[in-house]
Amino acid sequence: MEDEKDMCPASIFGSNVFNDSVMKTRLPKVTYKSLKKTIEQGLPIEPSIADVVANAMKDWAIEKGATHFTHWFQPMTGITAEKHDAFISPTNDGKVIMEFSGKELIKGESDASSFPSGGLRATFEARGYTAWDCTSPAFVKDGTLYIPTVFISYTGEALDKKAPLLRSAEALSNAALRILKLFGNTSANHVTATVGPEQEYFLVDRGLYNKRLDLMLAGRTLFGAKPPKGQELDDQYYARLRMRVSEFMHDLDYELWRLGISAKTKHNEVAPAQHELALIFDSANVATDHNQVVMETMRRIAKKHGLACLLHEKPFDGVNGSGKHINWSLSTDEGQNLFDPGKTPRQNAQFLLFLSAVIAAVDDYADLLRMTVASAGNDHRLGANEAPPAIISIFVGEELSAILESIETGKPYEGIERKTIDIGVTSLPNLPKDSTDRNRTSPFAFTGNKFEFRMAGSSQSVASPCYILNATVADTLSRFADRLEKADDFMSEVRAIVKETIKKHKRIIFNGNNYSEEWVAEAARRGLPNITNTVDAIEVLKEPKNIDVLARTGVMSKAELDSRYEIHLENYSKIINIEALTMIQMANRELIPAALTFLNQLAALNANLKSAGAKSKAASDLLTKVSGLVDDFEAYTIALKDAVEAASAIDNPKESAVAYRDKVIPAMANVRAVADELEMLVPENIWPIPTYADLLFRV
Ligand code: ADP
Ligand code: MG
Repeated sequence: MEDEKDMCPASIFGSNVFNDSVMKTRLPKVTYKSLKKTIEQGLPIEPSIADVVANAMKDWAIEKGATHFTHWFQPMTGITAEKHDAFISPTNDGKVIMEFSGKELIKGESDASSFPSGGLRATFEARGYTAWDCTSPAFVKDGTLYIPTVFISYTGEALDKKAPLLRSAEALSNAALRILKLFGNTSANHVTATVGPEQEYFLVDRGLYNKRLDLMLAGRTLFGAKPPKGQELDDQYYARLRMRVSEFMHDLDYELWRLGISAKTKHNEVAPAQHELALIFDSANVATDHNQVVMETMRRIAKKHGLACLLHEKPFDGVNGSGKHINWSLSTDEGQNLFDPGKTPRQNAQFLLFLSAVIAAVDDYADLLRMTVASAGNDHRLGANEAPPAIISIFVGEELSAILESIETGKPYEGIERKTIDIGVTSLPNLPKDSTDRNRTSPFAFTGNKFEFRMAGSSQSVASPCYILNATVADTLSRFADRLEKADDFMSEVRAIVKETIKKHKRIIFNGNNYSEEWVAEAARRGLPNITNTVDAIEVLKEPKNIDVLARTGVMSKAELDSRYEIHLENYSKIINIEALTMIQMANRELIPAALTFLNQLAALNANLKSAGAKSKAASDLLTKVSGLVDDFEAYTIALKDAVEAASAIDNPKESAVAYRDKVIPAMANVRAVADELEMLVPENIWPIPTYADLLFRV
């Protein structure tokens, strides 16, 4: 292990991945060619090919130390699932041989009944199966060959986030190719959504973490007074990495590189103990798988270094939360980035058409996009003053805004060079790249040649934001293509579409400060949705326009969407339920007893003073104060218990979720407020759990 660390990253990169170059050297030429075609065109694999590939994969994996294989899948729990099977197969002489068939590679049985299916199980079949996704390479990790798969029911309904993602990739490619063809590009075979996720996380000391039931069970602190020092000095952002953190990051990089995951940029974030890791972009599908591996690996490596990795969106109240920026663009198989404005008038026209499609899609389906980042954890971030607001808008920068305005009004663009912009005839003025990245408050920013969606939560899969973007942009591009294919004069139809789109959808463009109060009011005037919490966000899955667009693009059926509606509601309620129960347990078994211990000391102190004939205002004041707070603490804890019991007794999933949101969460806030006040009074040696200062500064 140590030797390998000294090796050059270039030589270890992808060493545990069954990637293209391994396939090329290990597979017979015909098999390789056929598999490559399958991968590129998303065709079903031929059984004869599958046997050959499986055998080569097994031999390679065994050389890498693997004894098992697993169909690795991503059920609706939000995390990954795996069941390991050994390659061994018994022989007549009581021994075993190592075997792996094409059938085992392609398809795995899985009892779907233990995974959330939101009613699909009842309507269709209890069993589900996993199907090899050959567009994401297999890899060896901890002695097991990991085969990325999609998880579907026997009747073909998606039980995971990968199946809709793959469907959306196909819809997007088809629609984008229609447009490209009209612009004269007939050589591109495929258009891929490219995604580069930036992952934020916290690292805290493992020993301290183990003393906090809330961190262990809920992933966030449910108690904790504000520390005397927070992030106000901005002395953490990009600061020198502390030794233990630096060693963790070093190990993490090497582990990821071996798995072919291009960990690129790492730095300290704004909050104390907060960090970020960015990967180099890949196809949305591979990026989704890689991000899952990144999150798992972070957790595992942190443990090795005596640290705990917190991926929750808001581990600490009053301290910046963690998000996941999803950089998204479109690329042809020839490597052309479709959001690169280009240099010639024709390239510019194509760019403006694709840009228009995104502007229209994001405006038409802002509610759906908002829904993809809704979770109990992310509710603490979105709309709070450090994260993007819950209102979706697009930042395009001053220059591009002025260009769009000039196109809409026909008035000359007043930039560095004053000119009238005629799509297809004049070329666009240069867009200075740095000016496109200045606005850090926008939830959806055009950053020169890609978009950066900044609302996703740190712990979530990138799949759903990606498939909703893919699907809605695909649908819009198809609409454009329908018109353009019928047009007599292609370029004037392009002009018309771009102009109409700007006119109709310019309300979604906003270059100002998204954190300001004025924006909330302005957005309301513009009629933009402001969905402030998860329960409301889930409701948009019932909107006919949203059901239609997903059905039209083949990304999700109404039945699949209905199932997700239920899964999301139940998931929300379960999370708040766990948090509330954890809070009650910590209150009753740790914090109230500690406060009573202190109260007892104060009572004894006051009694002693009295019998000695002495007086202390401080002692008697503190006794009164602590006594009152402990009474409140107990009363609020009982009230919380009642609220949880009432919410969990409601059968209807929506009404239950509403009760958790409107009754349980406020009851939790009451418990916390009084506990945090007590924390500031009770001596350190009596308060039983590590404080914020401990957690944030003792790394
Ligand atoms: P920053 O956001 O810090 O300015 P970059 O813009 O270079 O840094 O990259 C941020 C992320 O965007 C990285 O994960 C990078 O791989 C990704 N990215 C860059 N180009 C693309 C693209 N064409 N498609 C998708 N992601 C991209
Ligand atoms: Mg960025």
